[in-house]
Amino acid sequence: MSEYRDSDVKVEGFNLTRKQVLEIHCQDCGAKPGERCETSSGRVRHDPHFLRKADRHDGIDPGPKAKSSNIKGPDGREWTWEQVQSWVISLSVRNALEMFHGGGAMDPENPNPEDPDEAEGFITDRQMKALNIVIRHTVSEAVSRLENPGKNAQELYYTLFYINKYMEPPGSAELEAAYEKIKNGEFDPPGFIPDCTRSEPLELAPPTQKPRQGAETPGGA
Ligand SMILES: [Zn+2]
Repeated sequence: MSEYRDSDVKVEGFNLTRKQVLEIHCQDCGAKPGERCETSSGRVRHDPHFLRKADRHDGIDPGPKAKSSNIKGPDGREWTWEQVQSWVISLSVRNALEMFHGGGAMDPENPNPEDPDEAEGFITDRQMKALNIVIRHTVSEAVSRLENPGKNAQELYYTLFYINKYMEPPGSAELEAAYEKIKNGEFDPPGFIPDCTRSEPLELAPPTQKPRQGAETPGGA
């Protein structure tokens, strides 16, 4: 009975029989050739998915539906790999900033090496929220650029002009030592240059072309 119906019944919107449409894979629900389309809750759909009909109309079988490469987070939402990278970096930065906010916070303007865990910090809840919006936005832009370094070479390279001599390089023993000191509430070493003050940049070759209009000047406050 259903055989007969599948071979004869025309699908909605196309001059195709249901049987013809069922000959190919469905990119919407993942139904294999010969199988009927299903709703997201697993119920049989009498009318195949539009995508499947369109593919059959075009005379192509796109093959098995690719499994979603998205990653399901602990909160149940799905993220692309680019989003996962942005989350990991921005949340790591956020968690690290907690040392200046909330429990165990220290204030670089008023460090208390005697008892760093008792200091109150200097970032309020609302300031943390504002900072984190900017961090997530910036990290996601940077991750997106790094996904395609060839296309974004100029902007990526231009960012490196913000490297200053007083900045301990990522992954260096120098940086580890500076971080340990901060954690212990020891700050303001002699000769410290604030991060917002222009200092002598490293000698880097200039980019071949001018950075795009409106970009910030490196070293600006
Ligand atoms: Zn389907």
